[in-house]
Amino acid sequence: MSSKTQRKYDVVIVGSGAGGGMAGYVLAHAGLKVLMLEAGRHYDPTTETPMFNTPNQAPLRGVGTPEKPFGFYDATVDGGWQVPNEPYTSAPGSEFQWWRARMLGGRTNHWGRIALRMGPYDFKPRARDGLGIDWPMTYDEMAPWYDKTEELIGVFGSNEGLENTPNSSPGVLHAPPKPRGYELLTKKHCDRLGIPVIPSHLAILTRPINGRAACFYATDCGRGCSIKANFQSTTVLLPPAVETGNLDIRTGAMAREVTLGKDGKANGVVFVDKATGKDDFAPAHVVVLAASACETARIMLNSKSNQFPDGIANTTGLVGKYLMDTVGARLAGHIPMLENLPPHNEDGASGMHMYMPWWGYQQQAKNQLDFPRGYHIEFGGGRRMPHMGSVSWVPAMQKTYGRQLKEDARRYYGAVLNFSGRGEMIPNEDCYCEIDPDVKDKWGIPVLRFHWKFSDYELKQAVHMQQTFKQIIESMGGTIFGEAATEGSKCIYPGGAIIHEVGTTCMGDDRKKSVLNQWGQAWDVPNLFVTDGAPFVSNADKNPTLTILALAMRNCDHLAGLMKGGEL
Ligand SMILES: Cc1cc2nc3c(=O)[nH]c(=O)nc-3n(C[C@H](O)[C@H](O)[C@H](O)COP(=O)(O)OP(=O)(O)OC[C@H]3O[C@@H](n4cnc5c(N)ncnc54)[C@H](O)[C@@H]3O)c2cc1C
Ligand code: SF4
Repeated sequence: MSSKTQRKYDVVIVGSGAGGGMAGYVLAHAGLKVLMLEAGRHYDPTTETPMFNTPNQAPLRGVGTPEKPFGFYDATVDGGWQVPNEPYTSAPGSEFQWWRARMLGGRTNHWGRIALRMGPYDFKPRARDGLGIDWPMTYDEMAPWYDKTEELIGVFGSNEGLENTPNSSPGVLHAPPKPRGYELLTKKHCDRLGIPVIPSHLAILTRPINGRAACFYATDCGRGCSIKANFQSTTVLLPPAVETGNLDIRTGAMAREVTLGKDGKANGVVFVDKATGKDDFAPAHVVVLAASACETARIMLNSKSNQFPDGIANTTGLVGKYLMDTVGARLAGHIPMLENLPPHNEDGASGMHMYMPWWGYQQQAKNQLDFPRGYHIEFGGGRRMPHMGSVSWVPAMQKTYGRQLKEDARRYYGAVLNFSGRGEMIPNEDCYCEIDPDVKDKWGIPVLRFHWKFSDYELKQAVHMQQTFKQIIESMGGTIFGEAATEGSKCIYPGGAIIHEVGTTCMGDDRKKSVLNQWGQAWDVPNLFVTDGAPFVSNADKNPTLTILALAMRNCDHLAGLMKGGEL
């Protein structure tokens, strides 16, 4: 056993991504002695990010491969749809895809930085339409935590005062970068269709703060950012937490189970030291799980004891249940109006500068839509750094070669727009994860088995997405590639594919119907907390990470208060 883990910490945190990084930041700044266990390797974006490499310097010109699906330069140094030696399974008839990053900072190193607040409706969905589960807090309670989180991580965007698309407090947001040409063109046409197009909210600085530079529009954020202009746990949360002297990080430490003391409280975490393959133990007064929603459920389900034969804090049997992802569908098209554009500067942050928030609340109130809840639209196009296949979607490009190919590439480059819907899924009984009774990983830890079935709500929403994208593309005089689906099953992305999986340890006000209370604290084991996406009881169309961060900040502030007050 290493000297660090022999010591008893105030808190041991499992995971260093969005939820774990924020927990470490808040608890270390509160003066608590904290140990973080991270299964992946150490990673430092300031020295490891290939900021200025061009595609031709990479194998296969940087295109995605099974090992690096998001391209050679993607920041995920260890992980992906499959993690070697760490399988998972899907029940017969179910398809679920699970993206995992095994590295310090988890998926925050390469996430899309889309940082949208949930709105007032999103916290009380059941109260509005009778479906799903309400959150045990309101938007107004969360708003100050969103402000603090946005101030800390840095988010650009604008306040538009739209329905259920909340404003931040004055001065919180950084100014958004200027829209690009194709974004303005899309806005012009969407305005006519009644679809709002507004500046996107991305966790990217456009003014320097806290020793971090403003974005200088260098390269894809998915590679990580060596100047710390975008949000990564590894640049924004972990270094200042370590500087307090209160946070120790142990990488290569794969949590196996949370152990229970005779008093019925958690007393630490057993983990595998991946370098030696041997088990080690980290004793602590409080355990915080933030290994990502499904992995947190896995650790809890694997933490069996006489008191909790079905997994720690699982007397309700709800651990693993109500797993959700985001509803996704996509359509692209060729816009002749954008052909042969003269070379022009499309500088900007690597993501989209504009997006479409959900606009259908009033239609829904009048029963004019055949699905509940809504989706926002993320769209892309333009003439930034070309990469392999940039123009191959245009049918004419698939038939030419030589000089004609070069002329066509100049002509069509930038004339393709793609639209992606990101919509709300209602939690259902058919979507959950459990321990596979037969399969174990390299370290003998039982793995997860996924069950998945979208309901008609999601399938109908996916159809609406594709029909809307077709309408937008055609209103711009464009032609869609392929067909816009009329059946949801033909166009919806599989479960997990949008990589917004949340749920599995639902929170609530009633201990018989939830695993955690509103502070992410287990009803059954009061010194066990969860700070990743597992406590979510709905998955609004807004991408989840800003809410994971804000909730982790709020709940760890509460946890620190309990510890200082001697209540834990
Ligand atoms: C390509 C991509 C684009 C995305 N874009 C967006 C976006 O634009 N906006 C958005 O809101 N979200 C986005 N997401 C999702 C976002 O990355 C996640 O919501 C967020 O990172 C989840 O935070 P987390 O702390 O729960 O998990 P993670 O960030 O995954 O961190 C979990 C950490 O726990 C560690 N861990 C796991 N198991 C163990 C164990 N047993 N023991 C010890 N450590 C363990 C992992 O190695 C990892 O470091 C995107 C994700 C991907 C992959
Ligand atoms: S676009 Fe900006 S924030 Fe993103 S990696 Fe490049 S410099 Fe950093």
